[in-house]
Amino acid sequence: MDCIFCKIVSGDIPSNKVYEDDKILAFRDLNPEAPEHILVIPKEHIASLKEANESHLELLGYIQLKIAEIAGSLGIAESGFRLVANTGDEGGQTVHHLHYHLLGGRFMKWPPG
Ligand code: AMP
Repeated sequence: MDCIFCKIVSGDIPSNKVYEDDKILAFRDLNPEAPEHILVIPKEHIASLKEANESHLELLGYIQLKIAEIAGSLGIAESGFRLVANTGDEGGQTVHHLHYHLLGGRFMKWPPG
């Protein structure tokens, strides 16, 4: 499948990994929007949250708990962080493999643009 994040999972495209296990991978965004900007993805190809279903319940919960752990390991759990899952065109999704942006290291604005 022609998916850039699947190629990062397989190692065909290099990435700057911050966490990996058998279910998920976390790596630094190429174009960081904050001092800490990590992408956290399931290794399984799910195009977006729209395509997720009940068979993914455990995986989705697992990812969120791991993201909180990763935030702790990056030193941004106490100061605060933002989690974003851009979904679909109007949501700003450009890569069609489910991913969570973990952003931290600065004050975040609201509402987002
Ligand atoms: P989104 O616009 O929510 O789909 O986010 C896709 C993100 O993937 C963007 O923030 C890009 O900077 C990032 N990105 C694209 N290709 C790579 C790559 N090879 N390694 C790391 N981050 C990437």
